[in-house]
Amino acid sequence: MARFTLPRDIYHGKGALEALKGLQGKKAVVCVGGSSMRKFGFLDKVIGYLEAAGMEVKTIEGIEPDPSVETVMKGAQVMQEFEPDWIVAMGGGSPIDAAKAMWIKYEYPETTFEDMCKVFGLPKLRKKARFCAIPSTSGTATEVTAFAVITDYAKGIKYPLADFEITPDIAIVDPDLAETMPKKLVAHTGMDAMTHAVEAYVSTAHTNYTDPLAIFAIKMIRRDLEASYQGDMEKRSAMHDAQCLAGMSFTNALLGIVHSMAHKTGAAFADLGAHIIHGAANAMYLPKVIAFNAKNAEARKRYGEIADYLNLGGANDEEKTALLIRELRKMNEALNIPQCIKNYGLDSLPCEQGFVPEEVFKAKLHDIAVNAVADACTLSNPRKPTVEEMEKLLLCCYYDTEVDF
Ligand code: NDP
Ligand code: MN
Repeated sequence: MARFTLPRDIYHGKGALEALKGLQGKKAVVCVGGSSMRKFGFLDKVIGYLEAAGMEVKTIEGIEPDPSVETVMKGAQVMQEFEPDWIVAMGGGSPIDAAKAMWIKYEYPETTFEDMCKVFGLPKLRKKARFCAIPSTSGTATEVTAFAVITDYAKGIKYPLADFEITPDIAIVDPDLAETMPKKLVAHTGMDAMTHAVEAYVSTAHTNYTDPLAIFAIKMIRRDLEASYQGDMEKRSAMHDAQCLAGMSFTNALLGIVHSMAHKTGAAFADLGAHIIHGAANAMYLPKVIAFNAKNAEARKRYGEIADYLNLGGANDEEKTALLIRELRKMNEALNIPQCIKNYGLDSLPCEQGFVPEEVFKAKLHDIAVNAVADACTLSNPRKPTVEEMEKLLLCCYYDTEVDF
């Protein structure tokens, strides 16, 4: 038996934000990130719509990118005092994910972060509040997914929380919110979405229900991302939909080791002054992981199907896989994303010598590999890596060398 779960309602298209006027409840807490949503006027709009719906509104502002366990616990405290029956989270993946975790703690105040990390082990939510998510980036699709990524900074590890209980009740995918994204964010979140779709398509948990969403999302992202990056707002709007389709797929089909590796490298070098931004990490690792997974015949066949759907040519699955890899690398180039960690600068742009020195990478390599293999996303990857293989794969991602094992 398989399960396919999505939000009850997905409002999409220009002006969809207005759907908030139709929510029924007494109190809503609105969770946002640093300042973008206030600055561009979306926060005021949301508060206005919720008040028009007759609700008392409180905000939780200042949720940081890659939110911490502490931020989650603090926000949950605010919710416990205010007692909202709606949690409305707006912004990038970070504030929405943090709000999902706050929701768990609000419903079950005794829950520890460790409890939350038990994959598909959450108790029933919605005893106190329902959840509405409004994305302002076009990538994570957390507005429709059963996931939230929270960072434990003491360990330097990102933990994916996973359970259909945290799939939002309502998603509002309004392209107006995506228009204010700076270029770099468009690039990173767009390649995050591409990685979701490709990993979902070859996942061991993929089904007839998830395949069409994944493969169509891949087609749209390849067609629209570059122009969106260059400022075409119609394409930006299409990308907002495409990332959501990818999310609808991967929340049910799950992901693979590109995400395992991104989760475990993301904050691993934070003491050197930067994160390897989630979408950029995925963009760099995806071509390498495809080469690794393609040693598995079933995965190779499915990469071949993707290449066919994109009309990339190729006489057999091996050639088709190679052409798919080439295409993804071309996209990275067009989006100004480095091809490997060695060339990943402090500002996330390509450079000769990146912010992670060779010795530092090698010193942490074994631990990262162990953690990546243990990541929940590894379970649905089509080829199971050993720790040794994972180390080799990570080295290829560092140096941009060929994956021939
Ligand atoms: P973030 O939410 O981390 O936001 C990154 C930056 O973009 C912030 O500085 C934010 O500013 C700014 N920003 C967001 N939207 C806009 C906008 N419309 N205009 C201008 N600036 C904007 O970005 P992502 O969406 O990439 O989320 C990444 C996080 O999501 C990671 O922690 C990743 O691990 C996680 N993730 C979760 C998944 C899931 O299924 N739950 C799947 C994949 C990734 P400000 O703070 O001021 O709003
Ligand atoms: Mn992702």
